Amino acid sequence: MPRTVAVVGAGAAGLVVARELLREGLDVAVFEKSARTGGTWAYDPRADADPLGRDPAAPGAVHGSLYASLRTNLPRELMGFSDFPMAGRVFAGDPRAFPGHREVLAFLDAFAEESGVLERVRLRSEVLRVAPLGGQGERWAVAWRGEDGEVAEDVFDAVVVCNGHWTVPQVAKIRGIDNWKGKQMHSHNYRVPDPFRDQNVVVVGMGASGMDIALEISHVAKEVHIASRYSEDRLGKVELHNDIWMHREVDCIQDDGKIHFSEGSAVAADIILYCTGYYYHFPFLDLDGLTVDDNRVGPLYKHIFPPKYAPNLSFVGLPMKTIVFQSVELESKWVAAVLSGRATLPSEEDMMAAVRDHYLQMEEEGRPKRHTHVIMPKRST
Ligand code: FAD
Repeated sequence: MPRTVAVVGAGAAGLVVARELLREGLDVAVFEKSARTGGTWAYDPRADADPLGRDPAAPGAVHGSLYASLRTNLPRELMGFSDFPMAGRVFAGDPRAFPGHREVLAFLDAFAEESGVLERVRLRSEVLRVAPLGGQGERWAVAWRGEDGEVAEDVFDAVVVCNGHWTVPQVAKIRGIDNWKGKQMHSHNYRVPDPFRDQNVVVVGMGASGMDIALEISHVAKEVHIASRYSEDRLGKVELHNDIWMHREVDCIQDDGKIHFSEGSAVAADIILYCTGYYYHFPFLDLDGLTVDDNRVGPLYKHIFPPKYAPNLSFVGLPMKTIVFQSVELESKWVAAVLSGRATLPSEEDMMAAVRDHYLQMEEEGRPKRHTHVIMPKRST
């Protein structure tokens, strides 16, 4: 009998994991809570009732964080899988080098169909709990709720977690915010610029989304002020833009209602838009010895295998600042090879030692815990 594997989530990671597991001859079931595959790339025009998206368990909470105009920030050459490229083909009529989200979704749809993964996906099936049977997780019980609301439980030899990590907003707590009368939103709930028309906006954070959204709303807003701890060298009005200013991080909101930045300037704003990233969140996992602490999921060997439960529990898609599709494909190939018995992992002790070395190296380099899964080139010695 082939070993059975449950995959949680049918986004890019879950789809390529399932493809690799099938190639290794394993029996795969992919659980997907929404009505379609594609995960993040299935643009959802809805937003959470709470613009800060504080409760991921709220009824109607939205998974996706894409905005309507989003185009990839990697060229299509880097958005495909090794033997199923995006380059050289057009999937939804958008041949641009940096295509819009519909093109990526159509690419993933074609991949799911042609790889035979689609027929393994159980849509509208939300995983509620993943628990080991036996201390080390030789087998796993997966409780899930289907479309009819009924909860069922199935047992698998292994589980691969691919539930995505661009859904639960991180919101910086600003001193004085509790008495502020303006609006607040996290980029998770940003879709289109219209609500920002004629507004004075403070955008907190200068990552890819922060820059993209700030530029987009500057076409309709009165003023856009970007606050970032990385903006030191370029404070003040941004050249070529009449209505964008750069500031250092927000210091506080004072009694006058103005937002004060740490370089000393202050503005009166109508809305604060947080582009401050997301938390890892696994509401269906409550495992002894596996935690999420300050966005460190750990301990995990090479960001994938929790030593105590390896190899039958694994995570694919956690690394940040990677070429995502290529890295999830490589992670998937490793997981599939280990689960089929073609590859072996080091002992639990050796994996734990490697995890400790990684944490120690981060400390020595002064990198904060929350960057544990940010892939950094090794410093040359
Ligand atoms: P997701 O795509 O989030 O998929 C997770 C899936 O799991 C979802 O379908 C969800 O419904 C399902 N799920 C969650 N919980 C459960 C459960 N309990 N039970 C069952 N199913 C569940 N990457 C790039 O490569 N290029 C880009 O240009 C790029 N731009 C981005 C822009 C934005 C604004 C964001 C937010 C992300 C961007 N990314 C980009 C990263 C992007 O998230 C990845 O490309 C990729 O989609 C991650 O895939 P995933 O499968 O890990 O997660």
